Formats: sequence, structure tokens, C-alpha cells
Amino acid sequence: MPELPEVETVRIGLIDTVIGKKVLEVELIGAGRGVALEGSELNGLEIIDVKRYGKYLMFSFSNDVSMISHLRMTGQYIHVDSRALSNLDKKGHDKHTRVLFRFSDKSGLLFNDQRKFGTMELMNESEVDSYFASRKLGDDALFIDYDLFLSNVSKRANVAIKTALLDQKVIAGLGNIYAIELCYLIGVLPSTLVKNLKETKLKKLYSHIAPLLLVAIKNNGTTFDGKYVTTNGEAGKFSSFLKAYGKKSCGTCGSDIVKTKLNGRGTYHCPKCQR
Ligand SMILES: [Zn+2]
Repeated sequence: MPELPEVETVRIGLIDTVIGKKVLEVELIGAGRGVALEGSELNGLEIIDVKRYGKYLMFSFSNDVSMISHLRMTGQYIHVDSRALSNLDKKGHDKHTRVLFRFSDKSGLLFNDQRKFGTMELMNESEVDSYFASRKLGDDALFIDYDLFLSNVSKRANVAIKTALLDQKVIAGLGNIYAIELCYLIGVLPSTLVKNLKETKLKKLYSHIAPLLLVAIKNNGTTFDGKYVTTNGEAGKFSSFLKAYGKKSCGTCGSDIVKTKLNGRGTYHCPKCQR
């Protein structure tokens, strides 16, 4: 499931490829639930900007139209140039394509989504703030300040630290992979209750968040199951930097990494380096 670094990589790819493009038409190929578009509302509008908050993408169109999109499990935005799009039109579209934006320059943007949990919602630019406020999201993981992080985490005293990090109301953008990596980096078992962590540990945890995410973004994020790709359709390269997630042995001490389940999510830790 794409987390902050993967969504940010997609955002950067969209900035490079679709800013300034004018929508000719939007085809709802296999849209299904979660895609709240009629199709014609965006005709003639230009994409002005793409922003991100946590794991959400926010497309700004001309006429103050915004589209908020969440990739959920398997959503992908793939930019195709005019030649690639005309080839797809001849060959037939991928069965996982839910939406196709056709631009006036004959290029396109595909929204592919195998599991179909991804979402797209249109609203006026002025409604975006209240959309996020109603979800009570914590500040974005790249920008949250320490005092707010500490205060939000401390409200989850009886919750496992990894579970608290996954709570988008505590901090927005972290998911299973980066929460597991953060627990490894501070030498703490993911199941440790927040109340059993000293403030020095929480401070150390905080100090690792932005650096970890920034290195992941630099490497185009983590592709693990092949579902997440960049807007060019390429895999992210951060999986080779992971220390605990999906690993067989600990890169620090050589012990076997242990896989457990914590609140239903697959979790990895080193029994020697994490206590
Ligand atoms: Zn170890």
C-alpha cells in the first residue's frame, strides 16, 4: 500500500508530466465505487497543481475545481504520451484501468487500480480544508513539529507504538513499512505500549521520521508486491534499503528477523536489536 514516500513520488511525477495539460475528456473505463466523477465535469479544465497531504493527492484544476484522490491498496497514476495512448486505444486498455484522462495534446493519464479501493472526489477548492478537517488527520509526517507529535502520540498511551504510528489522526502519511522501519531504527519492539516509552525514545523516534521518508522519496519509494509504481510505470528502489520489513536476517546483528502480527498487520522485528 503506497505510503507517504510513494504518494510523494507519484506527486512529483505528476508535476513533471501533467501540469498545464488541458482535459479533453475523462473516460470512466472501469470506474466503480470510490470514483465520484461523472466524467464531463473536468472537460476543458487545466491541471494547475498537484499537492499532497499524508497519503492523499490533491489535484488543482482551473475554475477552482479540486480532485482529492487516495491510492489505497493498488492505485497507480501512469502518464502515457500520445504514441503510447494511441497504441493502447488500438490494443485495448488494461483491465485494471479505472479512469483515463485524455488531454488536448493527445497524451493521457491512466488511473489503474487492481483492487479498486482507490478514490477520486471532486469539490470546490474552498471545500478542501474542511474535507481534511472532518477526517481529523494529524499533521503530515514530513512537516509535523515535535510538540504536536509528542502530544498526539501520548494520547495513545495504551496503544502499541507501531499502531500509534499507523493512526493517521496521530501523524498523516506513515503505513506498515515505514512504521516497522522506525521501530527498528530506535531499537524498540513494535508492540511496546506508548506509555512504556520514555520521552527520550519518542524524541529519537521523531528525529528519524523525516530523514527516513526523505531517503525513501529520493529512491522513488518502496515497491514490494509490484503494485506500487511511479508515473513512468517504474518500481521504487527503496526496498533494498529496508532494515526490517520483509527481511530474513538483521543487517546489524545477523539474527533472524521475526515476523509477527500486530493488530492484524504483518510486523517484523529483530529479537536482539529491538527490546
Ligand atoms: Zn539485530
